[in-house]
Amino acid sequence: MKKRVFILLIAIALSAYWFFDIDHYLTLEGIKNAQADLKTWRQASPLLAGAAFFCSYIFVTALSLPGAAALTLVGGAIFGILGGVILVSFASTIGATLAFLAARFILRDSVQRRFGNRLEAINKGVEREGAFYLFTLRLVPVFPFFVINLLMGLTPIRTRTFYWVSQVGMLAGTIVYVNAGTQLAAIETTADILSPALLASFAVLGLFPLLARTFIDRMKKRQVYCKWQRPNHFDRNLVVIGAGAAGLVSAYIASAVKAKVTLIEAGKMGGDCLNYGCVPSKALIKSGKIANYIRHAKAYGFETTSPAIHFREVMQRVHDVIARIAPHDSVERYTDLGVEVLAGRARLVDPWTVEIEHNDGGTTRLTTRSVIIATGARPFVPPLPGLSDVGYLTSDTLWEAFAGMDEAPQRLVVLGGGPIGTELSQAFSRLGSEVWQVEKGARILSREDSEVSELAKQALEQDGVHVLTGHQALRCEMDNERKFLVVEHDGREQRLEFDALICAVGRVARLEGYGLEELGIPTDRTVTTNEYLETLYPNIYTAGDVAGPFQFTHTASHQAWYAAVNSLFGEWRKFKVNYSVIPWSTFIDPEVARVGLNELEAQEKGIAYEVTRFGMDDLDRAIADGTDHGCIKVLTVPGKDRILGVTIVGEHAGDLLIEFVLAMKHGLGLNKILSTIHIYPTLAEANKYVAGEWKKAHAPQKVLAWLGKYHSWKRKGGFLSSLLLSVVVLLGGGPK
Ligand SMILES: Cc1cc2nc3c(=O)[nH]c(=O)nc-3n(C[C@H](O)[C@H](O)[C@H](O)COP(=O)(O)OP(=O)(O)OC[C@H]3O[C@@H](n4cnc5c(N)ncnc54)[C@H](O)[C@@H]3O)c2cc1C
Repeated sequence: MKKRVFILLIAIALSAYWFFDIDHYLTLEGIKNAQADLKTWRQASPLLAGAAFFCSYIFVTALSLPGAAALTLVGGAIFGILGGVILVSFASTIGATLAFLAARFILRDSVQRRFGNRLEAINKGVEREGAFYLFTLRLVPVFPFFVINLLMGLTPIRTRTFYWVSQVGMLAGTIVYVNAGTQLAAIETTADILSPALLASFAVLGLFPLLARTFIDRMKKRQVYCKWQRPNHFDRNLVVIGAGAAGLVSAYIASAVKAKVTLIEAGKMGGDCLNYGCVPSKALIKSGKIANYIRHAKAYGFETTSPAIHFREVMQRVHDVIARIAPHDSVERYTDLGVEVLAGRARLVDPWTVEIEHNDGGTTRLTTRSVIIATGARPFVPPLPGLSDVGYLTSDTLWEAFAGMDEAPQRLVVLGGGPIGTELSQAFSRLGSEVWQVEKGARILSREDSEVSELAKQALEQDGVHVLTGHQALRCEMDNERKFLVVEHDGREQRLEFDALICAVGRVARLEGYGLEELGIPTDRTVTTNEYLETLYPNIYTAGDVAGPFQFTHTASHQAWYAAVNSLFGEWRKFKVNYSVIPWSTFIDPEVARVGLNELEAQEKGIAYEVTRFGMDDLDRAIADGTDHGCIKVLTVPGKDRILGVTIVGEHAGDLLIEFVLAMKHGLGLNKILSTIHIYPTLAEANKYVAGEWKKAHAPQKVLAWLGKYHSWKRKGGFLSSLLLSVVVLLGGGPK
């Protein structure tokens, strides 16, 4: 209601402006004609003339009306250079701020809601450097004054900042225009004001903040290094610390472009993914799946049986899989690629020197132009009373600990309802453990939509997992040789007896013990970097789990490209890391895969969306395979063929998702997926069917109604339709 009244008032003011033909006076001709009268008035009553001019200026600029430039000239012509500059400077800034506030009041919320995540980068940029951008825009008068006012109103810049930056930024332009106004008699056309010489001086003014910015950046960088002694020459172009996904890819790229690169790994080549993460967990999940098939063999025409699980062999297979993949990440492979690989613990001594404590003894120091920190993350162990007394496992230790066991632990507690905890709970349950999964939050996989969490929970429960959501772990207890986890739910304590307990409550970046503290490199939960993955020191970069915000192998290698290219070629061109389309998958059965927004995030961010679904129970191939559970959910911009995000729950969801990842990455919509031939019968057809559902929901109803009439007319009017057909055939447009 308030908004409507406000808009009405603006409309009245605008009508008055046009009705009284005020724009007619705000032309060069109009001003020149009135100049003598205005001067006389000013001499007779200077205060009244000043106040009237001031208010008129505010009126014109606040309503974004044409004529501000002409009024500035009037200011110079009537009040002289000093008086004109003071009046115009304040009036223009107040008017601009009112226009800014009006745009903010009327439009900002709806614009932010409508364009939501597309404005995120702009909003962040404005929050960080809005004053600087505005200052540049104000200095360059080729950008229309009123456009800047209105657009800035839609951003999160603070009003106070907008005011003072505008006042300071417009001062130079105001002086030039007011000065031109004092010469009004000599100016014949506006082109005289915007002469090439004058425009060139504005351009220089516009470049000034950019030049100043570059200068300040250079100074800042030098300051960071000033307490360190820079080596005269460098042993390496790049030293990479850590040989997980991020480090390996960084070193690979560096060697591919012929840089001299050293890769240092304290533990096992391949890092977490190969040795403790993706690879062993997926191998284990596969064994669990086979056990599950055997249990449900009746559904496929076999006799029901329970699998005879040789757990030691299952774990041996896990280690065999690691061993088969290990050559991909091995010292030999990387040495052949031209990378020097050193086994040892690295430590930054200064921004260009890395000390290596070799695993087989001795230390060496290498000087390097650039460093990439790719030290990864480690499991977080909660400060749970009694935990270390009872003993616990993490993803780092469980693979070795279980390798020597003939049976899966009889009673297993998994702490944590995230992707890792959920995957492990289901796999070990299928492999014979009685599993209690303990999650303090209201649901597992809490980053996903609640219906997805519910599907995951049901799937786990069907496999026999006790999914205890809303259960807070309080402490561990030993009772003779028996081990217990005490949890609290709804104010009541419960004791869970277990033989093994796995902590899977998250992973924290490795930040200590290799020189970040000594170099003063800021960290939060991860190493603090800018969008180029550059740390405080512009020659030290990070990638992977230690850089965040994601903890996936594919994001680690994605970041590695940016870190490697920026560290080697940053003085020529740097690339901002692009996180626009990041997919991931949780490899439970059925898989849960997502790219972009889900409903939860869209609601949190206030982004409008439409949902289109397709149930896997309608998909021929899924029915044939007996995997007809789960669904695809696509979020699109309301009324538009633009995909905001996709969640798939189902067999091979991670693989199915890639079609949407490609579509989103390259701006393709559901129409394009619908018009692509998908092989029958495949699971991938689900992607086409969900696109079809969207198409049906957006079918042009009016056109269809007309088509209905056309066809009924064709059915009825035998003579007329045959006549029409004959005409078409005669004209050559018919069947040949
Ligand atoms: C159980 C589990 C399952 C997972 N499943 C998946 C999955 O299915 N898909 C997926 O995308 N991601 C998965 N992940 C996550 C994935 O493993 C990580 O995101 C990925 O390994 C990160 O790679 P990185 O290079 O950043 O770090 P890491 O792989 O941790 O490598 C860092 C390396 O740096 C070394 N290092 C540390 N400090 C030093 C030092 N000072 N000197 C020398 N070397 C040092 C470490 O020894 C380590 O080898 C899983 C993780 C776990 C734990």
